Amino acid sequence: MNPQRVHILRNAETTPGPVLYWMHRDFRARDNWGLTHARLQALSSGQPLAVVSCLAPAFAEATSVHFEFLIQGLKETARALKRENIPLFVLHGEPGTRVARFARDHKIALVVTDFDPLRIKIRWIHDLLQSCDQPVHEVDSRNIAPARIVSSKREFMARTIRPKIKRLLPEFLDEFPVFSPHPHPWPTVCPPPDFSVPKAAQGDNARPQALIVEPGEQAARAVLEKFLRDKLPRYMDRNDPNEDVCSNLSAHLHFGMISAQRVALEILAHGHSGEQADSFLEELIIRRELADNFCLHTPDYDSVAGFSAWAEESLHKHLSDPRPAIYSPEEFENAQTHDPLWNAAQMQMLRTGRMHGYLRMYWAKKILEWSPSAADALRTAIRLNDRYSLDGRDSNGYAGIAWSIGGVHDRGWTERPIFGKIRYMNLAGARRKFDVDRYVRRWTAAPDDEST
Ligand SMILES: Cc1cc2nc3c(=O)[nH]c(=O)nc-3n(C[C@H](O)[C@H](O)[C@H](O)COP(=O)(O)OP(=O)(O)OC[C@H]3O[C@@H](n4cnc5c(N)ncnc54)[C@H](O)[C@@H]3O)c2cc1C
Repeated sequence: MNPQRVHILRNAETTPGPVLYWMHRDFRARDNWGLTHARLQALSSGQPLAVVSCLAPAFAEATSVHFEFLIQGLKETARALKRENIPLFVLHGEPGTRVARFARDHKIALVVTDFDPLRIKIRWIHDLLQSCDQPVHEVDSRNIAPARIVSSKREFMARTIRPKIKRLLPEFLDEFPVFSPHPHPWPTVCPPPDFSVPKAAQGDNARPQALIVEPGEQAARAVLEKFLRDKLPRYMDRNDPNEDVCSNLSAHLHFGMISAQRVALEILAHGHSGEQADSFLEELIIRRELADNFCLHTPDYDSVAGFSAWAEESLHKHLSDPRPAIYSPEEFENAQTHDPLWNAAQMQMLRTGRMHGYLRMYWAKKILEWSPSAADALRTAIRLNDRYSLDGRDSNGYAGIAWSIGGVHDRGWTERPIFGKIRYMNLAGARRKFDVDRYVRRWTAAPDDEST
């Protein structure tokens, strides 16, 4: 394994003891560099290894639907780890301090954990470091080219990060090692994991959603196989929301139930090449890793302060421009705007936990147009995306919304009311791209009549 994937958060001398891998972003037993590093460390010191996950009382806008998806996947991961002679402990409470207590109680010699640039995770890791004195290693298992290696600054746009990532791919796009079951058993009897949804999320009145994907590592593999077999050859139609040609992998990628590196390796192994494969790999690697770069180097990734200076200035200049309509957060949430396409996109997300990628841009830009300010629009878009998208609460979401509303990773366009120099989208443009009426019929029809 390439040692550059490992970022040492704390180096310390310790007495020999078990190794602990704290899984909080990459929820999978296979193709996981964090787990690989922990295994290699445990093997070289001849020690047992355990995996721990901690279910926080709350996580951004996550609802019981998201916790259930995570937990169902985690059950499968626990079974896979058991076959490898590695127990999974599921803790509940404030993750950083809970994991630190576990590490102290079990005389852990080394804690290995996932890389994640989101603020809540930075706090968890801070709490861990404050509450235990073990060495802590962070491993980037989310990105093919580790975010800390790719660039030490916020990249301007895809064009600037692309060559940096591409230069590193020959070194980092490698096969994962295969292990035999871990030879050093955990010394004590492990209690059955407590897979209950945290109490706070149990009473959150989350809307029931008919998710279009099943949770877990096996389900993710099935989604990938279907994509490679049936959809990738038609990926050039991906901007048509009536066509089902995108991978639908974002929820599994978000929860780490499949590795982006595995997806890329499979594409190459199956001999997929040409325009379709290149376009897909551009999204999977360049756009996705650009999003982590944005959050890593922009502490205000979810506020107007995180926008580019030109965008913030331009939006400010147009703050008092009259809006064609202003909707409250509740009206947006309930899909009660005057725009049938916007309402249909919102309905797709409410019902299924997913909104088509092209419409996500339109959806966020219209929230800007119909909100009193960019700050209000950003708050509304992030809340709705985090609460109703299965793949929400992700650096891709914060970057995608900042792109749509705040010009992040984009250039300035011809100045116009409300938007200033932010790229504009409208219904007429959508009509030129796809059959808007068909999409609207589908998502505004009664739920049992979605076949049109
Ligand atoms: C306003 C807005 C909000 C968004 N919110 C999210 C979000 O919460 N979570 C999320 O994962 N993506 C988000 N995206 C990015 C993108 O729309 C989704 O990743 C994509 O639609 C997911 O569908 P798919 O898996 O079928 O994508 P595919 O087209 O099959 O792409 C494969 C994978 O590449 C990555 N990817 C694709 N497009 C992008 C992109 N523009 N930026 C970063 N990564 C990308 C995703 O991991 C995706 O699963 C958002 C984009 C916008 C404009």
